[in-house]
Amino acid sequence: MPTIVKTEVLVIGAGPGGYVAALRAAQLGKKVVVVERDKPGGTCLNVGCIPSKALITAAKLVDKIREAGEMGITVEGLKVDFARMQAWKEGVVGKLTGGVKQLLKAAGVTLVTGEARFVSPRAVEVVGTTEPTRIEFDACIVATGSRPVQVPGFAFDGKRVVDSTGALAFAKVPDRLCVIGGGYIGLETGTAYAKLGSKITVVEMTEHLLPGTDPDLVTIVERKLKKKGVAVHLKTRAKGFEDAGGALRVAIEAEGHASGPSTVECDAILVTVGRAPVTDTLDLARAGVKTDAKGFIPVDEARRTNVPHIYAIGDIAGGPMLAHKAYREGEVAAEVIAGKKSAFDPRCIPAVIFTDPEIAYAGLSEPEARAAGRDVLIGKFAFSANGRALTAAETDGFVKVVVGREEHDILGVAIVGPEASDLIAEACLAIEMGALVPDVALTIHAHPTLSETVAEAVRAAVGEALHAAAKPSR
Ligand code: FAD
Repeated sequence: MPTIVKTEVLVIGAGPGGYVAALRAAQLGKKVVVVERDKPGGTCLNVGCIPSKALITAAKLVDKIREAGEMGITVEGLKVDFARMQAWKEGVVGKLTGGVKQLLKAAGVTLVTGEARFVSPRAVEVVGTTEPTRIEFDACIVATGSRPVQVPGFAFDGKRVVDSTGALAFAKVPDRLCVIGGGYIGLETGTAYAKLGSKITVVEMTEHLLPGTDPDLVTIVERKLKKKGVAVHLKTRAKGFEDAGGALRVAIEAEGHASGPSTVECDAILVTVGRAPVTDTLDLARAGVKTDAKGFIPVDEARRTNVPHIYAIGDIAGGPMLAHKAYREGEVAAEVIAGKKSAFDPRCIPAVIFTDPEIAYAGLSEPEARAAGRDVLIGKFAFSANGRALTAAETDGFVKVVVGREEHDILGVAIVGPEASDLIAEACLAIEMGALVPDVALTIHAHPTLSETVAEAVRAAVGEALHAAAKPSR
C-alpha cells in the first residue's frame, strides 16, 4: 500500500513557477505539498538564468580587465582558473537553491522528492521516493517546465555535443565552440566563452541573430560579436558532424547556394535551437488535462486548464519561456485557488538578453504598435551621449521609445546597451501604470546614471531631448 498524503494544494515542479506558487498559496493559508524530482529551483536556478549569468559576469570581468588599457590599467599575466570559476558559479547556485528550500520550509510547505504522474483528476502517484506515495489534492498546479529540443544528427553526449546545461558545466574552456542556433541562450553562452578565449562560430538558420528581436537592436550586438572574433553564419543549416581525428567537423549549408564554407572545425558543439514543454511524462490524460499539438497546456487568465481545479504555469503554459513570467503566473494560480480575484493580465512582460551589450525590451515595438492601429512617435537616445556610459567605457547602443502620437502614452521601450536588463524596469512600470511622456520626463533621474537615457529617449519622442539633437518622427 502506498503512503497516502492529502493536501489542499499540490504543486508539481519546484522551478520559479512552482516554488513561488507554493509560497504564495501557503502565505494565503493553504496546506501545500510540492513534488520535485530534482533540486528545488528548477531550470532557472540550477542550469539556466543563474549559472549562465554567473559565467557571463565572470567572463565580462576578464574582458573588461583586458580592455582597461585606455584607463591606464594593465594587468600582466592575467590568468583564468576555470575550475575555480565553475566552483564559484556552483556556490552561487547552491546558495539560491538552498534558500528556496529554506523558504519552503519556513512557509510550512512539504517538499517531496520524486517524480509525480497523474493517476486520476484528484491524485498523483510519486515514484523515486523511499516508499510509493499517493498524493490526493483539492487543487493542483502543474509547473514542470521545459527541456532542450534535440536536432537530428546532433545527439547530446554531455561532453562534446551539449545542450545549455552541458555548456554551462564544461570542465575546460573549449578552444573552438560551434553554437547551433543564434537565439538568446546560444548568444549569451557563446559570448561568455568568446571572452574566456574560445573561438566561437554561430550557425543560425534564419536571416537574423536573435530571431523575433528588433533587428535595430541586434545589429549593435552583432557588430560587437564580430569585433570579438565570433564568426556568424546566417541562413545556414547545420546538417551533421563527424569526428575528424580529435576535432569535430560540422557540415553546414547556406540557404540557396553553397558559396560559404561547408564545414566548421571545432572541439565542442552547443545545440540551442529552442525548448519544449515537459508534459509528456505526466500522464495528463488520466487527469483529463488537454495539451495542444506542441505539448503546451492551454490555460485561461487564472491559469486554469480545461479541468477547473488543475492549473498550469510557467514554460508549459505557453508564451515567453521566462522565469519572471512563471513567477507571476504562480502567484496568480495560488491566489485564485485561495479565493482571491486575480488574473494573469500584464501589459508587458520584459524580455532581457544578456549579450554584450545587453538587450531588453517591453511593450510594443514600432511595427506592433502600428499593427495595433496606433499612430506613433519614436524617440531614441544614444548611450554615447550619456555621461555615466562614458565614465563606464560602455557607450555602444541606445534606448528606443514608442509613444502614441496624440495621447503621448508610452507603448514600448527597447534598449540595447549597458545594464539594459536593469534599466527596463522603469519602462515596465511606466507601461504597466499607463504613464504618459511627462510622467517619465518630469521624474528627476539621478545624475550621472544610465537611467537618464530612458528619460531622454522619452523626451526625444516629442522633440524635447536636452542632451541630443534628436527629433520626433513625423
Ligand atoms: P522549470 O524551471 O523548468 O522547473 C520545472 C521543475 O519541474 C524542474 O525542477 C523539474 O525537475 C520539475 N519536474 C518536471 N517534471 C516533474 C515531475 N513529473 N515530477 C516532479 N517534478 C518535475 N529566464 C529568464 O527569465 N531569464 C534568464 O536570464 C534566463 N536564462 C536562461 C538560461 C538558460 C541557459 C536556460 C536553459 C533558461 C533560461 N531562462 C531564463 C528560462 C527559465 O529558466 C525558465 O523560463 C524557467 O525556469 C521556467 O520556470 P518553470 O517553473 O516553468 O520550469
